[in-house]
Amino acid sequence: MRVPMIAGNWKMNTTLGEAVELVKEVRPGLDEISNVDKVLCPPFISLAAVRELIRGSSIKLGAQNIYFEEKGAYTGEISPPMLTDLCEFVIIGHSERRHYFGETGEIVNKKVLAALKVGLKPILCIGERLEENEAGRTEEVVTAQLRSSLTGIAYPNSLTIAYEPIWAIGTGKAATGKQANETIALIRRNIAGLYDKEIAHNLRILYGGSVTADNASQFMSQSEIDGALVGGASLKATEFLSIVRQTSETRR
Ligand code: PEP
Repeated sequence: MRVPMIAGNWKMNTTLGEAVELVKEVRPGLDEISNVDKVLCPPFISLAAVRELIRGSSIKLGAQNIYFEEKGAYTGEISPPMLTDLCEFVIIGHSERRHYFGETGEIVNKKVLAALKVGLKPILCIGERLEENEAGRTEEVVTAQLRSSLTGIAYPNSLTIAYEPIWAIGTGKAATGKQANETIALIRRNIAGLYDKEIAHNLRILYGGSVTADNASQFMSQSEIDGALVGGASLKATEFLSIVRQTSETRR
């Protein structure tokens, strides 16, 4: 049985004070739900404060990025060992990092390897651009991203994959549940090819891209979709709670 996950990617939003307020708003509601993994991914500067605020709760914490080197002269970067005391998860390969910060498949792979080495659990993002989708290249693109991201990883047991079609992120134009389910089934078949059927069956694969309280249930009711990586809607406490509640009810 794969435990569903709803992860909130706050992106470059919330000051420290705003992050504290948001956690205070979501904590009571999130704590009532036990059959879903609930992960908050605030900006780096708020990780320590959020960790204190969720102490003793069932809420988990994730970072939005890491660098792959352990330490050294990399001004402004955060290394995997710096995160291990703070959080359990880390988002890697988000399309915004690939697009704005030039992260290649090779860099994403190095980050996944570096995270796994210190026991951080990667939430690996993959997904195709609009023109690739329209040209019918989704399978080719997603397969290539998957293979390059997982190079040298013998056993992806603590990995979560987030399928995030780039055309659906922050655009308000979500994929349909059926579309997302088909691509996620394809990703799972690819994992079975790269590893084996059991690993593929056990691997958690999320959908991400304009998930809201209004459309969440159409994703959560799909057999292959194990939750969501939520951007914009994770900044609104009632909306985020509603997405988590709907996931919990669908999976009961
Ligand atoms: C994301 O940031 O991963 C994301 C899916 O954003 P949004 O939900 O805003 O589309």
